[in-house]
Amino acid sequence: MRIARFSIDGNVAFGAVEGEGAVESGGLVLDIIKGIPYTDFELSGTKVPLSKVRLLPPVLPNKIVAIGRNYAEHAKELGHEVPEVPVAFFKPTTSVIGPGDAIEYPSFSSELHHEAELAVVIGRMCREVPRERVKDVIFGYTCANDVTARDVQKREAQWARAKGFDTSCPLGPWVETDLDPSDLAVQATVNGEQRQLGRTSDMIRSIEDLVVHITEAMTLLPGDVILTGTPAGVGPLTVGDEVAVTIEGIGTLTNRVIKRG
Ligand code: MG
Repeated sequence: MRIARFSIDGNVAFGAVEGEGAVESGGLVLDIIKGIPYTDFELSGTKVPLSKVRLLPPVLPNKIVAIGRNYAEHAKELGHEVPEVPVAFFKPTTSVIGPGDAIEYPSFSSELHHEAELAVVIGRMCREVPRERVKDVIFGYTCANDVTARDVQKREAQWARAKGFDTSCPLGPWVETDLDPSDLAVQATVNGEQRQLGRTSDMIRSIEDLVVHITEAMTLLPGDVILTGTPAGVGPLTVGDEVAVTIEGIGTLTNRVIKRG
């Protein structure tokens, strides 16, 4: 099931996406959900065309734990070795934007990069999750763009500003709850031109590895998000660009880059 979060006439709700095609195609309908998606919920049967709503970030995480250098080709393109233990960092909740929202080019950077990533959405409170239970704590998957001020990342020891500025975490367009994430194409295009293309089967650490590693240290809450790293092909974004992250089996997350005003 694809679960979107949206606003219509000033109200915010979740809905199950029905139909086929892209967001813009006009072929999609939302069946409004009664309750919240992480626990028991039902479909209300009340349907609205997706073209009549504004899609919001599909989830409001308590935290976003991101993994760096999880694809060997990407580590290599930035001149890094594959790390012995996964590189983990946080992106703040204030960095989250939804499909169609603007990425604001930060004033303190002159080298902004896209990073297309599969995002894991956690469905229940958990810690010290054993490998065989990982699938039980995952609610679903969505597309993410780990937008990065690469010049700032290079000159500051921690990545809080480089990867944590406002609008640096587009998520969406919805959460797919029924998906085998082990071998999906992950793609980024800029103005329609392909920049990144990889497969989740090329991840150095699997989703199971990452959930075990993260929950060894901290409790994850329903709605928390794990960014699983980006394949090779990261590259610059400039003001006016339209960047799209497409993941097989999920959909496409599109955002435009604007000057911070
Ligand atoms: Mg990344």
